[in-house]
Amino acid sequence: MPLVNLKKVLSESIEKKYAVGSFNAANYQGVEAILSASEEMNTPVILSIAEVHFRYLNLKYFIPYVKNRIAQCSVPVVLHLDHGLSFDTCIKAISMGFSSVMFDGSTLPIEKNIEITNKLVQIAHMANVSVEAEIGHVGGGEGNLEEGSEVDRSKFTKPEDAEIFVEKTDVDALAIAVGTVHGPYKGTPDIDNSLIKKIRNTISIPLVLHGGSGLSDDDFRNAVKSGINKVNFYTATSIAAVEKIKQIINGPKKVSFPDLTKAATDVIKEIIKHQIEVFGTKPLKL
Ligand SMILES: [Zn+2]
Repeated sequence: MPLVNLKKVLSESIEKKYAVGSFNAANYQGVEAILSASEEMNTPVILSIAEVHFRYLNLKYFIPYVKNRIAQCSVPVVLHLDHGLSFDTCIKAISMGFSSVMFDGSTLPIEKNIEITNKLVQIAHMANVSVEAEIGHVGGGEGNLEEGSEVDRSKFTKPEDAEIFVEKTDVDALAIAVGTVHGPYKGTPDIDNSLIKKIRNTISIPLVLHGGSGLSDDDFRNAVKSGINKVNFYTATSIAAVEKIKQIINGPKKVSFPDLTKAATDVIKEIIKHQIEVFGTKPLKL
């Protein structure tokens, strides 16, 4: 199956009311867990690499490996840059062969976010690469496991801002702040489904939920029913993999390093398969 962009992979998701999972890989095991889970479920997937994880990877060799693995996959796959923090990183990702990039200008004033996103969209679309942007701001730190973050309602996405943003940028998917945070939660997550519905009725492009870890299966099902089409999910897989490793190390048997990484990879794969089912992801014919 070929590499596809975000626009293609989400093309039926609004009408058929499902979401496609976006799972982060920060090493070879992550790539294998994400792709083999999706192949077993026969559903498309978004394999994301976040800019904050670049430090774990030698991109020059890692990206060609990922592209080769995707080319031999039995399901459509998007290779997506998660939270590109600058215009330059997004351009670098496009030149390396990513089929989709997220520019995260959510901490900038909206006019500046529009200006940079618009410039990026014009270049990306010429290369058949899709662009995701974020307005409002999903709090917490990507990969931050130390302390939980609180939801800040003042940073929630305003439907009128979403409308202006999409009109002025021609962006392909929009991440919205509706009650989630990155990393662990302080307190219980409380998703504003009526806000998702309002934004869904205001704009016609796919909507993205970041900070998925920590939500219940029903939270996800309701968010998807309200209009979410892409769910970013990472922290919970990382925590579960580390717990599995601890359990094995503290157990009675001596194990090798490949045994440990294999056991952790299998745990991540099972979680991803479960999430795909919860998101209601449907097979996509190309
Ligand atoms: Zn995110």
